[in-house]
Amino acid sequence: MDLSSFDIKFIPGVGPKRAAVFAKELNIHSADDLLHHFPYKYVDRSRFYYIHEITDNMPFIQLKGQLLRFEKVGEGRNLRLVGIFTDGHRIIELVWFKGLKYALEKYKPNVTYVVFGKPTLFNGKYNIVHPEIDIASQLPPADKMTLQPFYNTTESMKNNYLNSKAVQKIIFSLMHEVKNGIPETLPAFILKKYALLNLTDAIINIHFPQNADLLNKARQRLKFEELLYIQLSILRQVKWREKHINGFLFDKIGHYFNTFYEKYLPFQLTGAQKRVLREIRTNVKSGKQMNRLLQGDVGSGKTLVALMSMLMAVDNHYQACLMAPTEILATQHYTGLKEMLGDLGINIALLTGSTKKKKRTLLLEQLRTGELNLFIGTHALIEDVVQFANLGLVVIDEQHRFGVEQRSRLWKKNKLPPHVLVMTATPIPRTLAMTLYGDLSISVIDELPPGRKPIQTFHYFENKRPVVNNFIGKQIREGRQVYIVYPLIQESEKIDLKNLETGYEYIRETFPNFKVSMMHGKLKPAEKELQMQQFVSGETQIMVATTVIEVGVNVPNAAVMIIESAERFGLSQLHQLRGRVGRGADQSYCVLLTGHKLSTETRKRMETMVGTNDGFEIAEADLQLRGPGDLEGTQQSGMPFDLKIANLSTDGKMLEIVRNIALEILEKDPQLASMENQIFVSQLKKIKTNTVNWSLIS
Ligand code: ADP
Ligand code: MG
Repeated sequence: MDLSSFDIKFIPGVGPKRAAVFAKELNIHSADDLLHHFPYKYVDRSRFYYIHEITDNMPFIQLKGQLLRFEKVGEGRNLRLVGIFTDGHRIIELVWFKGLKYALEKYKPNVTYVVFGKPTLFNGKYNIVHPEIDIASQLPPADKMTLQPFYNTTESMKNNYLNSKAVQKIIFSLMHEVKNGIPETLPAFILKKYALLNLTDAIINIHFPQNADLLNKARQRLKFEELLYIQLSILRQVKWREKHINGFLFDKIGHYFNTFYEKYLPFQLTGAQKRVLREIRTNVKSGKQMNRLLQGDVGSGKTLVALMSMLMAVDNHYQACLMAPTEILATQHYTGLKEMLGDLGINIALLTGSTKKKKRTLLLEQLRTGELNLFIGTHALIEDVVQFANLGLVVIDEQHRFGVEQRSRLWKKNKLPPHVLVMTATPIPRTLAMTLYGDLSISVIDELPPGRKPIQTFHYFENKRPVVNNFIGKQIREGRQVYIVYPLIQESEKIDLKNLETGYEYIRETFPNFKVSMMHGKLKPAEKELQMQQFVSGETQIMVATTVIEVGVNVPNAAVMIIESAERFGLSQLHQLRGRVGRGADQSYCVLLTGHKLSTETRKRMETMVGTNDGFEIAEADLQLRGPGDLEGTQQSGMPFDLKIANLSTDGKMLEIVRNIALEILEKDPQLASMENQIFVSQLKKIKTNTVNWSLIS
């Protein structure tokens, strides 16, 4: 039976109306979709735990016992109801933040209850927040209950009586219909070699686990399959590209590169910069198109690597371009690179949204004739009117700020796709990089230029503002400059802008002896330039800004970064902002100001920032705290694959194993032509990927 063409409306208990709800809410259409709608958690109803058995990271558990008494604790918004519960040996607190009155009336002493929930550690003691409570005598005996699955449902589903229990029932009757009719999706040799459950058993046990062990095996099998198909699909594209797409050949290191290296370079390259340049060099002289991600923490010197790679292109009679996400950054790159290149004889130009028409026409003409060697710019570069004589290398700075589509348009600006170097300071954890960018080579600058002192980071509550102000004053009197950043979630949000302007006035009043610049996205380009220029030249000592200064901005004398309402920023953004300081030889500081009421997650974010300067550690923490779908950069580009069961933050190990298995399979049979591999071919066809050709983009 082909389950992907079995319409769920024919399942007993579904019908056309509920089928439509499933389709709309969960994108579930076929029996196959439904069988792959996995529970998001299970509850162990098979046994009762004792309070003394509770440990960290337990799933939902059940306890049996009696309530001794209730207490009200805290006041105002912190008011909560605490029920003291005992299993006859120890006590544990049950906590309600909502529905206090209801709980107080409903639950009585001297009744034996089954309490059900997830224990959490708070102030050194375990408690259970908002437990589910049943009267013990009204539940079936424990040995009749097993792991109970819970399914994600939506508000609209619940309105149509499709809660978790109902979904479970529907899946149960579907299983009854199809029983042994679930066609296997992995070849027999794989099941055998890696001791995996067959699909039927895996599906049965993921929905109706007979015990924890079988549930585990079912999850392993389904994760394995999910990751294997993703890897097969990515790696097959890689092989295809290697075979069919040639790259421009940069076979010489010539005049420009050598002269620059010997005479113009203002400092020694770090070991990491040298290594990465060698990696790039090997790649561009191989005849294969380069598609490389350059990761390097803020301040690690990626721009220089980009410049020297662009010189390789020029030495081989190709043009190169560098695209940056903001006008400020593009302008800064242009000025910086132009200065470094001095009189080397390279023609370099800048194109942004505010380049005047006359100038623009001229530049575009020079670009077409090949007179320009290096072209720096913002999104303006991707427009169709921008045509190169012979574009050989595309560099994209802060690549996560661009969408996939935007980036891929640069690929098409020559007959063959140019070499591509995308740079980011937002490190992508390895597991995520393997999934998202499986066909991308990765280079890492894991070393900062010498002499940098690690930035010291502090977290203060807002009432410590006077202390922070003193500190700002002291630093400026010692000759340093200071950034003060206000959150601006959306540049159009009037309230946010008002915050910034109020902040600006406050700073001017607090520091009447200092000069203050202000920068935000709504300023006219000329005004932006002026404000930036005044700060760069040291004419102003304080820069009050929104996150427009988040990426790339480089003012080495700025040694203090104050982040207002730091709780409103994500980890990678905080790290980027902090990266604006610590660029010179002075000790630099970052101060995170927040309100008093912080969620556990926010507190963790602040602790992470205070605890480490390492971008990779921060990215891992971010992945743990937020999950991959939320990570900056994956949101815009969209995850190419929709993961149903594997979890990139916890299944990294399996991903690596599976990747090697996929490599081995393709090594032996690149076309997947053998009989035993046919099952892969038909499954790969079914996998829904984005319509973009992933082999051509980062
Ligand atoms: P990022 O990797 O964040 O883009 P930049 O390329 O802006 O970093 O470099 C940060 C600063 O470090 C710049 O002022 C740059 O000139 C300087 N720099 C880069 N490489 C070196 C080096 N090898 N030695 C000393 N300073 C360097
Ligand atoms: Mg940079």
